[in-house]
Amino acid sequence: MKVSEKVKEVPPSGIREFFDLVLQMDDVVSLGVGEPDFVTPWRIREAGIYSLESGYTSYTSNKGLPELRKLISDELENKYSVKYNPEKEILITSGVSEAYDLAIRSLVEQGDKVAVFEPSYVSYSPCIKFAGGDVVKIDTSFDSGFKPSTDKIKRVLKNRDIKVLVLNNPNNPTGVCLEEEKVREISEICKEEDTSLISDEIYSKLVYDRGYFSPLQVKGMKERSILLDGFSKSYAMTGWRIGYVAGPEHVINAMNKIHQYTMLCAPIMSQKAAVEAIKSKKEIKDMKEEYNRRRKLTLSRLTEMGLKCVEPEGAFYVFPSIKETGLSSKEFAKKLVKEKKVAVVPGTAFGESGEGYIRCSYANSRENLKIAFKRMKEFINEIK
Ligand code: PLP
Repeated sequence: MKVSEKVKEVPPSGIREFFDLVLQMDDVVSLGVGEPDFVTPWRIREAGIYSLESGYTSYTSNKGLPELRKLISDELENKYSVKYNPEKEILITSGVSEAYDLAIRSLVEQGDKVAVFEPSYVSYSPCIKFAGGDVVKIDTSFDSGFKPSTDKIKRVLKNRDIKVLVLNNPNNPTGVCLEEEKVREISEICKEEDTSLISDEIYSKLVYDRGYFSPLQVKGMKERSILLDGFSKSYAMTGWRIGYVAGPEHVINAMNKIHQYTMLCAPIMSQKAAVEAIKSKKEIKDMKEEYNRRRKLTLSRLTEMGLKCVEPEGAFYVFPSIKETGLSSKEFAKKLVKEKKVAVVPGTAFGESGEGYIRCSYANSRENLKIAFKRMKEFINEIK
């Protein structure tokens, strides 16, 4: 049987490739995975259990439970003062992963150009390629705090006939969160150049020192944006596979057309649990406060051992430079895990512009972080 060229030409995930190595080893402290170390808060789990006990084991409507869509629409209105019709403009998906794939497949024709900021989340470019689109990279650099240059965005969108721009704020892998001014600038360029925006806001509840500003808050952006968000990160619900999309009715209809033939609906018990999650403010606040303590610890320990960092303001990642060690990202990560049993992700897993960096996730206990940074410091001193 012959596998399609489109699939063959996409390389395997740099994270998976690396973690296959880590899985063969014992006693590794992992700063590798982009996944909360917390168990889903009890009242959310209880809602999932109760739904099973009550016999909720069937399909829901393709778009998802009306109660959940209404809660999401209310939350978006409270946060961004933007009204989404829960019947027509919201779709519940199996995670942001499905939501992103549906968004790309609904918008992209063969050969359409989609712009992605790099370093970027590992799934963005492959899904564009699977859909037959062309990826146009807009690099960001350490020197500009991993924030994209407005001039560069303008130039690319104007000259390269970009149909869709993908924005992930706060960002995986850098942890950088764009401030209101930058989000406004990007939004204005999208309007001028008639470019659609996919706004992946999966970490928007994990911004530490200030509020989060969404492109949806810019006048005229609701009509050209597809907002993706979910429950995996801020509610520690990665295994439940639940997320959502908010967007213009005709785009939601297109996405739902693919969704109804492929996924049918998100799992009902996860949807029931998500209803409870939206109401669980205290649990979310506690987890966020703990991430913030870990963020400060991570930043101070990395800086202390001489690794330069752009201060992460959101998500649970930091992307320090390892250029001064003289090792490539892959060499650094491989040597570190083999010699000191600390796993990090080579920056190149997030695109070529990630060379010279590693991604450290602080979604691990402070105790483990301290062990990891002690070992990492020894490693750096030994290779100097
Ligand atoms: N988007 C970003 C930026 C992510 O970092 C991740 C997971 O790491 C996802 C989407 C996928 O999220 P989900 O678990 O909701 O599919």
